[in-house]
Amino acid sequence: PQANIGVIGLAVMGSNLARNLASREGNTVAVYNRTYARTSDLIDQHGHLGLVPAETIDDFVGSLTRPRTAIIMVQAGAGTDAVIDQLAERFEPGDIIVDGGNANFTDTIRREKQLRAKDINFVGIGISGGEEGALNGPSLMPGGSDEAWQTLGPILTSIAAVADGEPCVTHVGHDGAGHFVKMVHNGIEYADMQLIAEAYDLMRRIGGSDTRELADIFTTWNQGDLESYLIEITAEVLKQTDAETGRPLVDVIADQAGSKGTGVWTVQNAVGLGTPVSGIGEAVFARAVSSRKAQRAAVQAITGPRPEPAPVPDSFHDDVRAALYASKVVAYAQGFDLIVAGAQQYGWDVDLSAIAKIWRGGCIIRARFLNRIVDAYQNTPTLQTLLADPYFAQAIAGGEAAWRRIVGTAVASGVPVPGFSSALAYYDTLTADRLPAALIQGQRDYFGAHTYQRIDKPGTFHTLWSGDRTEIIATPSTH
Ligand code: NDP
Repeated sequence: PQANIGVIGLAVMGSNLARNLASREGNTVAVYNRTYARTSDLIDQHGHLGLVPAETIDDFVGSLTRPRTAIIMVQAGAGTDAVIDQLAERFEPGDIIVDGGNANFTDTIRREKQLRAKDINFVGIGISGGEEGALNGPSLMPGGSDEAWQTLGPILTSIAAVADGEPCVTHVGHDGAGHFVKMVHNGIEYADMQLIAEAYDLMRRIGGSDTRELADIFTTWNQGDLESYLIEITAEVLKQTDAETGRPLVDVIADQAGSKGTGVWTVQNAVGLGTPVSGIGEAVFARAVSSRKAQRAAVQAITGPRPEPAPVPDSFHDDVRAALYASKVVAYAQGFDLIVAGAQQYGWDVDLSAIAKIWRGGCIIRARFLNRIVDAYQNTPTLQTLLADPYFAQAIAGGEAAWRRIVGTAVASGVPVPGFSSALAYYDTLTADRLPAALIQGQRDYFGAHTYQRIDKPGTFHTLWSGDRTEIIATPSTH
């Protein structure tokens, strides 16, 4: 045995990860793929990296030093289960099986439990940054045992992206914690993209800016507190001209957004955990509506003229930027709330400031703004919500008037801003002294005797709605 780490599955992600690993000092990397042609291609092109190719899974396992450590990078789902079974038959207690695919965290929890019964460590890593990240430094979100982290930690640290001098990897928590956090990362990515798209739409349709001006605006924004990979690539996309028609590329791309489903997982789990992630939800739904071409056409055929764009103040672009920033804070606040809820439900000990740190490099949502989240959770690890952090509270208060103007202008002009407006509604809900939830409790008590609590004394109460409408004590106070 000679390799301290192995990679199974040598499509684009696995081969890039293997090359990244092999180029770091201290690593010798064994590589294996079900179809040998992929392995030989990789060796032909990158054999100088000292990769150790295996034609069979037995050779692969035989080439690994103990504790044997193998990262699986195959198609998520059945492919991953098949490879785990092959390794589990050959691995011994203390060895480490790592799944770097886009697994659903519930699969990771199940697999970890099965392998733990054999004393084999199973680690689920969320890997963000696509092929480019895998090759040059991804953001890594590993979940698994402390024992596995002993061996794996230094190896992952050697290949992770670096942001502000720190590697973008942390031991997120046990079993499915890493894949859960990766899922939330993807959800936040959906929200971030939707908000940027709304800002673009407003400035184009109401503000009247063309794509060239817009590319410049986003480039300028990328030098301030909105600096991020997604803002940067937005400017690049807007600059692009279609070679065939000479029009801006964005104008010839069909306006139906696709998705691979991780945003849906985020919303499904958030609903189950009772955690409002309206920013992510609106983003997922906005993509879904965009893709309902026939439905859009049917409604367009029957509706009258659309509202004219409302007049805009000189401060319009600054207003949009303020609305974008405030809405983005809300989306991240909700995403971090979901991590807290998941950690509580599944028993993970997650350090939120460490999560904000590892998202600063290598991944799609990397942004300067994450430093503020790092600070917020470092100052107050038990923060109720990011919106209660003094820095963010002040930042939102400073942009609040602009945020309201923008949502108002959008509504008056008939430009949909589900992200901006739902974020504002969430903020207004949290900041309201009294909510109409009291009326809902009254309705629930009326039709279902669901009882209610009072603001002035403990216990639960019920009004005899179909009787004389007196109030009775349903459950006396326990104090
Ligand atoms: P694919 O998802 O396209 O999967 C192809 C690989 O899976 C091939 O190596 C294939 O082997 C192998 N495979 C499929 N089924 C089996 C099986 N039953 N037994 C053994 N091997 C099998 O590869 P990618 O590189 O795109 O992605 C790998 C993983 O990384 C996926 O889980 C993906 O979701 C995840 N990921 C992808 C990102 C991306 O940007 N693409 C980003 C982050 C994670 P063979 O050559 O023999 O067919």
